[in-house]
Amino acid sequence: MTMLGIIFSLITLPYSAEALEPVISRETIEFHYGKHLQTYVDNLNKLVAGTEFEAMPLEEIVCKSQGGIFNNAGQILNHNLYFLQFRPYSNDQSPMPNDKLPIMKAIIRDFGSFDAFKAEFEQKGTTLFGSGWVWLSADKEGKLVITQETNAGNPVTKGLRPLLTMDVWEHAYYIDYRNRRAAHLQALWQIINWDEINRRYTN
Ligand code: MN
Repeated sequence: MTMLGIIFSLITLPYSAEALEPVISRETIEFHYGKHLQTYVDNLNKLVAGTEFEAMPLEEIVCKSQGGIFNNAGQILNHNLYFLQFRPYSNDQSPMPNDKLPIMKAIIRDFGSFDAFKAEFEQKGTTLFGSGWVWLSADKEGKLVITQETNAGNPVTKGLRPLLTMDVWEHAYYIDYRNRRAAHLQALWQIINWDEINRRYTN
């Protein structure tokens, strides 16, 4: 493994770079996935070489490391969950999960309604000061919670299982939305792949 000099690699996107338009542009994907995420991968590979972290899964590194290793491993884990939760944009698909999915039943149980869940999620994303992530996670009993994490934070460090996330670092939206973070968060619901979120919840 170390002979190749590549331990962690850039995920492959399950859609084309323009598939999320107009919610996320091809240019944003080229920078956010192609440059920012690639840089975190390259940095982590340099930082973990020859350390106890080089053979660990990302989740374990995030729970056990600090400083540069934590920051880069956290950002890879966060972006992998982020980019793999989207589906190609289509204006005739519902932005809500199907009523029959366990994740939708859990949202209704724990937030009262899908609209109440969305409102809390967007509010926590909009009010997070500076760079970070807003998360929907499940606790050990399967109860859903929405939390904020700053910088490279991930809810796995608090014993939660991350299901859905929105990136509120400016690099996630500045090309397409400039300073309008709230408008970006509102638009993202149109490309969430709820089958993938449900898979993460029921696995
Ligand atoms: Mn990002």
